[in-house]
Amino acid sequence: MSKHVQNVVIVGGGSAGWMTAAYLSKALDKNVQITLVESSNITTVGVGEATFSTIKVFFDYLGLQEHEWMPKCNATYKMGIKFVNWNAKRQHFYHPFQRYEVIDGFDISEWWLKIKKNQEAFDYACFLIPWLCDNQKSPRYLDGQVFDDKVQNEFSSQQIAKKNILNNLKIQYPYAYHFDANLLARFMKDYAMRRGVKQIVDDVIDVKLAEDGSIDHINTKEHDSINGDLFIDCTGFRGLLINKALGEPFISYAESLLCDSAIAMQLPSDIQKDGINPYTTATALNNGWVWNIPLYGRSGTGYVYSSAFVSQEDAEKEFREHLGEASDNCKASHIKMRIGRNRNSWVKNCVAIGLSSGFVEPLESTGIFFIQHAIEELVSHFPNKSSNEELINSYNKVIADCIDGVRDFLTLHYCASDRADTEFWKATKHDIKVPENLREKLRLWKNRLPNNKSINPKFHGFESYSYSVMLLGLNYMPESSLPVLEHIEDQNARAAFMAIQEKANYLSATLPSQYEYLTHVIKSQ
Ligand code: FAD
Repeated sequence: MSKHVQNVVIVGGGSAGWMTAAYLSKALDKNVQITLVESSNITTVGVGEATFSTIKVFFDYLGLQEHEWMPKCNATYKMGIKFVNWNAKRQHFYHPFQRYEVIDGFDISEWWLKIKKNQEAFDYACFLIPWLCDNQKSPRYLDGQVFDDKVQNEFSSQQIAKKNILNNLKIQYPYAYHFDANLLARFMKDYAMRRGVKQIVDDVIDVKLAEDGSIDHINTKEHDSINGDLFIDCTGFRGLLINKALGEPFISYAESLLCDSAIAMQLPSDIQKDGINPYTTATALNNGWVWNIPLYGRSGTGYVYSSAFVSQEDAEKEFREHLGEASDNCKASHIKMRIGRNRNSWVKNCVAIGLSSGFVEPLESTGIFFIQHAIEELVSHFPNKSSNEELINSYNKVIADCIDGVRDFLTLHYCASDRADTEFWKATKHDIKVPENLREKLRLWKNRLPNNKSINPKFHGFESYSYSVMLLGLNYMPESSLPVLEHIEDQNARAAFMAIQEKANYLSATLPSQYEYLTHVIKSQ
C-alpha cells in the first residue's frame, strides 16, 4: 500500500472549497484524486467579495489572466480601503495598497509629521492611490500597462511564472479585486473540474472516525460513504469535521473584537452614470461599520455590528437609514459571525480551510487571504499517510500566528481611534482586551510611527506602512516629528512630496476610468 496521500476529500463548495480544489488540482499530480462534496440544501455564506492585494499571486499561480476571469466574475479593481467616520473629526482616509517611499533613510510619513502635518492630509501627501481613487481611475492603461513603474515589470509573464508563494513577495501589488463570490466559486469549480476534480452534490450526514481518532470516512444522504486519506473541512462556520466530529475547540476573539453579526445586501448600480469606485469603503456607524464593495453591475454592502449594543431589528433600521432610498426593495440577510480561530486548524487527517478554520470581521478583507494562505501552507506542509506530527505542528503555528496577527491589527483599528460617541465606540476604548504586545507597541507608536522592526514580525499579511496609515488616519500619532529630522536637511523630502503631487496629477489626467477600462476589456473578448 502506498504511503502517499492519494485521495483528498474536500467537504464544502463555497469560496474556500472551490479555491482549494482549484489550487490543489494544479499543485498536485494526477495520482492524487480530489473529490469535493457540497450540499445543495445548505447555502454558502455568499459574501466575501473584497480581497487583499496578494490574491493576484493566487490567480497567477493558476495561470489565469485578468481578462479570462474578471469579466466572468463581474470583478473590479480595488486599490485600497476608504475609511469614513472612523475618527472623532469624521475625516476620511485611505489605506492604499502602496508602500511609503523612504527619503534619506526615513519613511515619508515621518517627514510628513515634520513638514506637512498642518497643511495636507497624510494619505494625499504620501501616496498616489488616494488621488486615483477619488478620480475613479483604473490602475491600468488601456494597453494593459500598470500605473506604478516600480512594479510594472512584475506583471510581465516571465515574472508571473516565477513566483507563487505570497509571503515571499518582494513587492507590494498596487491593487486587489472585488468580485461576485458566487460567480468566483463557479469559475473555480469549472477550473478544478476541468483538471479532474470530482464533484458530489449531497449532504454529509455523518463523519466516522477510525480507532486512532482520525477520519475514516464520511456518510452522505444519497451516495455511498466516501473514504479519503486527507479530509479538508470547508463547511463554513459549522466546522462539521474539525469541530463537530473531531471536537477541536474554537478560540473566540470576542474580548478584543466586539462585532459578531452582519447584515448583507446587494444594491443595483448604474455604473455607466456613476462610474465604479476602485476601492472598498468602510463607513463607521453607531454600533459597527458598513462595507461597500462596487462590482461591475451591482454593489455589495453590509453592516457589521455588535449584538451587545443593538438588536437585529434596530441594526437593520440604522443600516437602511444609512443607505437611504438605495436600499428600498433590497432584501437583507442576517449573518451570525463566529470570530476567532480553531486551537488547531489541522487535526489528525483533517485540515480546516475558510470560515471553518478562523475568521475576523471583514474590515481589512482578510477572509479570502486566510484561505489563500492556508492552501499555500498546506501544499508546502503536504503530508504522507502517517507520521506527520511535526509538519502538522508547524502548519498549525503558522496559521494561528497569521490569524492572531490580523486580530491584533484589527483591534488597533478600534482602540486607536479617537471616536467615542456611542456606547459601542466607548466600549472599544474602555472594555476591550488589547493584547499585551499590542498595548506595549501602542506606547512606542505614540512617539514614533511603526516600522518593520516594531510591528509583529510573524507573517500576517500586513506591513509596517499599514499600521502607520491606520494610526495616522485614526488620529493616534506622535505629538511631534522625530527629533533626528531636525538635524537633516529636508529638501529631498520636499522634492519627494512635490514629485508625488505631480505624478498624481499626471496619472489622474491620463489613466482611463475604471468603468472605461473594464468595459474595454469586456468588449475586446
Ligand atoms: P461557506 O461559504 O459557508 O461554504 C460552506 C460550504 O459547506 C457550502 O458549500 C455548504 O453547502 C457546505 N456544507 C456545509 N455543511 C455541509 C454538509 N453537511 N454536507 C455537505 N456540504 C456542506 N472575506 C473576504 O476576503 N473579503 C470580504 O469582504 C469578506 N466579507 C465577509 C463578510 C461577512 C459578513 C462574512 C461572514 C464573511 C466575509 N468574508 C470576507 C469571508 C468570506 O466570505 C469567506 O472566507 C469565504 O466566503 C469562504 O467561505 P467558506 O467557503 O469557508 O464557507
